[in-house]
Amino acid sequence: MRLVTGKISHESNTFSVIPTDLEAFRRRGYHCGEDILSAFADTNTPLGGFIDGARERGVQLLPTVAADATPAGPVTRSALDTLLAQLLDGIRKSGNPDGILLQLHGAMVTEDSEDGEGEILAAIREEVGEDLPIVATLDLHGNVTERMVSAATALIGYDTNPHVDGRARGREALDCMWRIVRGEIEPVMVRSQPPIMPHPLRVRTDTGPLVDLLNIARSWEEEPGILDVSVFGGWPHVDVRDAGLSFLALTDADERLARTAVEELSEEALCQLEEFRPQTLVDLDEAVERAVGASSGPVILAEIGDSPAGGSSGDGTHTLRALLSAGADDVAILVKDPEAVAAAEDAGVRGSFSMRVGGKTDDLHGEPTHLAGAVRALTDGIYVNRGPMSTGVTVDVGRTAVIRTGQRFDVVLTERRISPVDPQVFRQAGVDPAQKRIVVLKSGGHFRAAYTDMAAEILDVDVPGVTAADLTSFGYSAVRRPVFPLDEDI
Ligand SMILES: [Zn+2]
Repeated sequence: MRLVTGKISHESNTFSVIPTDLEAFRRRGYHCGEDILSAFADTNTPLGGFIDGARERGVQLLPTVAADATPAGPVTRSALDTLLAQLLDGIRKSGNPDGILLQLHGAMVTEDSEDGEGEILAAIREEVGEDLPIVATLDLHGNVTERMVSAATALIGYDTNPHVDGRARGREALDCMWRIVRGEIEPVMVRSQPPIMPHPLRVRTDTGPLVDLLNIARSWEEEPGILDVSVFGGWPHVDVRDAGLSFLALTDADERLARTAVEELSEEALCQLEEFRPQTLVDLDEAVERAVGASSGPVILAEIGDSPAGGSSGDGTHTLRALLSAGADDVAILVKDPEAVAAAEDAGVRGSFSMRVGGKTDDLHGEPTHLAGAVRALTDGIYVNRGPMSTGVTVDVGRTAVIRTGQRFDVVLTERRISPVDPQVFRQAGVDPAQKRIVVLKSGGHFRAAYTDMAAEILDVDVPGVTAADLTSFGYSAVRRPVFPLDEDI
């Protein structure tokens, strides 16, 4: 069996002013041809799972392009056209493959399209015709559309958030493709979409309303004829018609069964509507007071409004400023600021540093904040994820400088935005978050996979930004209405 494979992945945020051009993909991860297999073998990613399954089953993978950009504003038309052309070109050159196996996200929008993955899948379908199977994995934050469902043969979503099952879902997708190609199954997919657009804080899979919904999905999967049931929390920080919760059932040629399963899930979600309201938010002042006064650490302050994994600037200063003025000590915090990194490099290790840092991308994430201290470390910012998410993947956060101010208050300045889901981002710079009293993470929830065990306490801090918790504060115009929580009456 020969399968064309690849990945074009982006979680877009239409409230972010940061453009996602081809260069943004090059910075984060852009692999072509055979290089893809060496980059993703033995990683906890869907591509890693494809590679595992291919090895075991003797499938030949024909890699095309694997591109991923840090979440930000819509993808430029020319970037998507370039990546899609590479993928289509790979398909043309592959010589009658048995199927197309992809890692996609599900919440990509472009400058001129609400549905990036729908476009990718439809373009491939047009290229390969009606009969060739197209199977793709999607992120739990995907906003699944009818266009995606009708173009693909099978779509398989993550079951975990934080996402620690990428490799397992990739393996499942390869096994599904294996059975399709051998004529053992004929997948039918049905989607349902309740009028609910939850904030990511309420689409965790260890607590909150998704726990029950996933249990229902798992019990449906035990029914004969059901191949897979996916629960998508969706992604609310894109103003598109289909933003939010959806369910997808995959059956063996039984549309009625698939429809029954997803309709039950939609009804159950509506019964739990109030559960989708964020419930753990703490005001910044209270969070700082609790962190400074805590008897043990580390206390994790999660900056909900400034999550680069959701498209924010990663240079927010609200919490930095509050901790500095509270005289906090023994802190680790990460701020993206290439200009400040360059200044730290000019000063050199042990040199003195004094300038305004952060708050330089837009007017939502706080003002640049004066920081004075000594340069403690300078690194190249390249490390390998050791935590449970995307384990084994090499990350390049750009040149990095650690500025120490006050009593062990370490500000890790990076050239690039990063979702600090893996503690290696601190450790590569010589800062061990487990040993700190206060750790500030610009992350909405993915950090929990690696930090929960080390944390004395975790506080979801309600700071402003393009991933802020109060969705009613954003100016939506395209999302379907009525929708929770924008409309109280649904
Ligand atoms: Zn996600």
